[in-house]
Amino acid sequence: MQTTVAEHPLIAHKLTALRDQTTDTPTFRRLAYELTMLLGYEATRNIRVEPAHVTTPVGPADGVRLARPVPLLVPILRAGIGMLDGLASLLPRADIGFVGLVRDEETLVASTYATRLPADLTGRDTFIVDPMLATGGSMETVIKMLISRNAATVTAICLLAAPEGLARLDAEFPDGAGSPDSVKVSVVTGTVDARLNDKGYIVPGLGDAGDRLFGTI
Ligand code: URA
Repeated sequence: MQTTVAEHPLIAHKLTALRDQTTDTPTFRRLAYELTMLLGYEATRNIRVEPAHVTTPVGPADGVRLARPVPLLVPILRAGIGMLDGLASLLPRADIGFVGLVRDEETLVASTYATRLPADLTGRDTFIVDPMLATGGSMETVIKMLISRNAATVTAICLLAAPEGLARLDAEFPDGAGSPDSVKVSVVTGTVDARLNDKGYIVPGLGDAGDRLFGTI
C-alpha cells in the first residue's frame, strides 16, 4: 500500500484550525471542503487520462481528458459526507456511491448498515473519503468492497490518520502482483497523528468528526 502524507503549509494551517475546539460548525465544514480539495489534488495524481485534441483560437493543441469509465467517489457515512463536495468539485462527472458504517463504541468494531455501490467497477478508479483513519476497520471494509467489485485502483483520502490504522491497512493490502489484493491501494492523508486512545479516538485528533460536521445526535 502506498501512503502519501500531503506536506504543505496550507494543509497544515487548515488542519490546525480544524482541530481547534473553538472552531464552529460552519467553519469546520468549510475547512473540511477546502482540505479535501487540496488532498484530492494529490490523490488524483495518477488518475487515468486519454489523449485529447482541441482547437484554441490560435490553432490546434494536444492535451488530455479524464479517461472513461468515470471514477467512483465513496463517502463513508456519516462523516465522509463532509468531504464529498470537495472531491466532487474536482471530479464533477464522477459517480458517487455510499457505504454506511457504524462503530460499536465498546468493541470499536464497525458494522455496515447501508451499501449503494455499482456491482461492477472494472477499469474504474475509486476514491473513498472519511475524515478520520483511526483503527482502519471501516476503511478496510470499504476497500474490500471495492476490490471485490473489481475496481482498478482504490485511493482512501482522510484528513487525519493514526499510525495504528495505517499499519492495519498496510498489512491487509500489501503491494505486489499476484496476490488477490494486487489492486493498487493508496492512502492520502493530511497528517499522521500520535496514536489512538482507549476509546479509539485519534490523539490529538479533532474529536468526533461527524459531530463537529453535523452536530451531536
Ligand atoms: N472517528 C472520529 O470522528 N474521531 C476519531 O478520533 C476517531 C474516529
